[in-house]
Amino acid sequence: MLIDGKELSFAVRRQVARRVAESKRPVRLDAVLAGENKGAEIYAHNQRKTCAAVGIEYHLHRLPATATYEDVAGRVLLLNKNDDVTAIMVHLPLPEGVEAERIQSLIDPDKDVEGVNPANIGNIVYGRRSLVPCTALASLEMIESTGIELRGKRCVIVGASNIVGKPIAVLLMRAEATVISTNKYTADLASLTRTADVLVAAAGVPGLITRDMVKPGAVVVDVGINRVKGPDGTRKTVGDVAFDEVKDVAGHLSPVPGGVGPMTVAMLLRNTCEAALG
Ligand code: NAD
Repeated sequence: MLIDGKELSFAVRRQVARRVAESKRPVRLDAVLAGENKGAEIYAHNQRKTCAAVGIEYHLHRLPATATYEDVAGRVLLLNKNDDVTAIMVHLPLPEGVEAERIQSLIDPDKDVEGVNPANIGNIVYGRRSLVPCTALASLEMIESTGIELRGKRCVIVGASNIVGKPIAVLLMRAEATVISTNKYTADLASLTRTADVLVAAAGVPGLITRDMVKPGAVVVDVGINRVKGPDGTRKTVGDVAFDEVKDVAGHLSPVPGGVGPMTVAMLLRNTCEAALG
């Protein structure tokens, strides 16, 4: 069974659009983009379109490639102070010498819709109300969409970055699953993944998860987004899971593209709504 991220994301977008339409207060997202990066430009362009489609105001704050830490930090602090600004995100990469983590930790935690401020990441552990990183939320939503009861299930997370693998692991721990976090130093990865009722692949290694690494019937969520060259020389986007072989053994599998990617965008919209309306 395919976990259709596109379809699920449309449902979330409809909910967001309804909430925004019913709200007396305008819902807006302010994004900071410093420097010139093609990927960030495309992301910002798509963000503007996506926000418009659900009625969210989008304000892009551009800073030059010469922007310093003080310039970017100053802009974030101004947005923090502005009561009309309810949601803030900072596009990456930042200009050389401007450390992303230092900037992210300045974003007001109540406006931090990407959930990148350490305060929000910390609150996930406590299960307090907080803004959770969008990809982690997207992965959890996709797992839950299968109807699986997580309590007591064995979940293996492949990849343990601060913004993807670790928060996914914590969210699953909160659901009282048995969680195994793995990374590139994990010995005999396959012996662990083969025991997983839920397998989340978030390593950034194309085709890492092969058929023999998956327990029959498992829920498999593929977070990876990798650009690779096909046999005909054209470039395409693939995940961390060898989709064609794993689809025959998994119970539920999310595709790439059309899986966690669109759901992550939908979670950003939902977090933006949450930040403005609570
Ligand atoms: P990262 O490079 O920061 O972290 C990768 C993690 O995977 C590390 O913990 C590393 O130890 C682990 N890893 C690497 N090779 C491994 C291996 N062979 N076996 C086990 N673990 C291994 O990457 P990230 O930012 O966490 O992103 C991971 C992937 O998810 C990337 O492909 C990225 O493009 C994708 N991503 C997707 C979305 C989305 O919206 N779908 C969002 C963010 C990231």
